[in-house]
Amino acid sequence: MTDLAGRVALVTGGTRGIGLATVGALVEAGATVVLTGRDESTAKEAAAAAGAAAGLGLDVTDAKAVSTLVRGVAKEHGKLDVVVANAGIMEDALLGMIRAESVSATLDTNVAGTLHTVQAAARAMLRKKTGAIVVLASIVGEHGSAGQTVYAASKAAVANIARSAAKELGRSGIRVNAVAPGVIETDLTAGLSDEAKAENAGRTPLGRLGTPEDVAKVIRFLVSDDAAYVTGQVLGVDGGLVL
Ligand code: NDP
Repeated sequence: MTDLAGRVALVTGGTRGIGLATVGALVEAGATVVLTGRDESTAKEAAAAAGAAAGLGLDVTDAKAVSTLVRGVAKEHGKLDVVVANAGIMEDALLGMIRAESVSATLDTNVAGTLHTVQAAARAMLRKKTGAIVVLASIVGEHGSAGQTVYAASKAAVANIARSAAKELGRSGIRVNAVAPGVIETDLTAGLSDEAKAENAGRTPLGRLGTPEDVAKVIRFLVSDDAAYVTGQVLGVDGGLVL
């Protein structure tokens, strides 16, 4: 069992889905975990249910708010060992139907939000010269997907945030990795028809869609000392879907 006792962790978008499962996995391993969501009372409720130390309101598109919150968590707990930049949105549309507002919202949340979070995490970790960051990419960031041009572009950017930050921060003892989930059953994919879900499961060598816990356990590995020599990687968690 991975041991994260004594570690302080922050998970953005920890109110549901993969983020909430990650909070649970980190708490189970003994970490002190703070989670965030856009609505403070929802975040507080999620934190209480998951055994997290706190649930805080945060919109990751607000760079100043991200910086203040991350600094505050590190100050309150004396350090910050782990940050999972998980918050993200997905708005599907065929090329001709993509709305400009959807482009801004997706890039602001997925790219700028992840960047703000990684930047603030690095600042908090540099003092102690140790830390582990995981960002949420996607298989579509590597392979593209019809009807998901904006989302795929945003996730390609997220993967390269991980690679670039890993190169920059490695000598300071900070590791940065990405996970690239396939189709995971959460609110994000709830809009998929049963037919589309069955089709995706059928194309997956492991024969099923993923669960939030499938991804959370890989994130837990990546932030643990078991992954001490792993950085700058984009690790697929997709049941073999892209093979
Ligand atoms: P959910 O829609 O279930 O959860 C998204 C989380 O992000 C919520 O906790 C939400 O919090 C938070 N969030 C959204 N926008 C913001 C924002 N602007 N500021 C702060 N928090 C925000 O998604 P999943 O759990 O499925 O996805 C989690 C991550 O994994 C995302 O980055 C997603 O792109 C990625 N991913 C998911 C896949 C899947 O198949 N599910 C596949 C590949 C990648 P709240 O609403 O409470 O504010």
